[in-house]
Amino acid sequence: MELWFTEKHTENVQLSIKVDKQLYSSQSEFQRIDIFDSKEFGRFLTLDGYMMLTQKDEFIYHEMMVHVPMAVHPNVRRVLVIGGGDGGTVRELIRYPFIEQIDLVEIDEEVVEACKQHLQQTACGFDDARVKCFYEDGLKYVRRFEDTYDLILVDSTDPFGPGEGLFTKEFYGNCYKALKEDGIMVNQHESPFYPADAVAMQRAHKRIVESFPISKVYQAHIPTYPSGHWLFGFASKKYHPLADQRVEAWKAYGLKTKYYNEQLHAGAFALPNYVEEMLEHVE
Ligand code: SAM
Repeated sequence: MELWFTEKHTENVQLSIKVDKQLYSSQSEFQRIDIFDSKEFGRFLTLDGYMMLTQKDEFIYHEMMVHVPMAVHPNVRRVLVIGGGDGGTVRELIRYPFIEQIDLVEIDEEVVEACKQHLQQTACGFDDARVKCFYEDGLKYVRRFEDTYDLILVDSTDPFGPGEGLFTKEFYGNCYKALKEDGIMVNQHESPFYPADAVAMQRAHKRIVESFPISKVYQAHIPTYPSGHWLFGFASKKYHPLADQRVEAWKAYGLKTKYYNEQLHAGAFALPNYVEEMLEHVE
């Protein structure tokens, strides 16, 4: 008997991965959580049937979410991660010894527990003394802070279900307020390729542009996300992702990465014309 995981990317397109074994399945208060094992992608986590990460390609997403802003901001001490219950973003952050505090706000504690049990590849940094987990809605959490964080990473699910509030104008405005005067926010920015994803991407971009003086978009190739073409938003109060890229300083940290490098940092902001047009349309 063959067992397959299938995610619908559009009405007419789907991605299927052959499953060796289902390791975890649970309906939490917020969503259905599944972890599978497969030959091609190793273990993978899905929420409500949507792919969150696979062991094989998660390095691309997590390195691009963390190292791009870390190579720009010269003095990151306090970081807020919203979502990110799989731990991959935290794992990359704790590689910087000068970061003093990492607050992770995840709505669903069960995601963290399931990943600690079955996805140690990503959930390996939660015991670091600098990491504090808060199990609550990120939308509500950020309302309480002003001039507090150097970096906010929005490692959320898509803009429906519990993640919906993390794509609102109110949320981006509160992130702006919670950041220090030279703070940076990076968010997962959906895909430009299929029309439904592109609409969500444009809506998010419009709201970020309205909230931050510097708002740029960069891209990465993530094979298991719809179309494989994924975007990130770089929103900032002061630093420009290219003009302020600290190439030598970042190299001097001596971090070994599998995807990110300084040339790729610059290249990731060079977007295809059709994507530029979509962004300009809402700017
Ligand atoms: N890399 C992933 C992706 O884009 O597919 C995101 C992974 S991470 C597992 C997303 C996390 O965001 C989930 O664990 C989910 O529970 C959490 N989340 C969703 N809505 C949230 C909210 N409003 N506040 C805090 N965390 C939230």
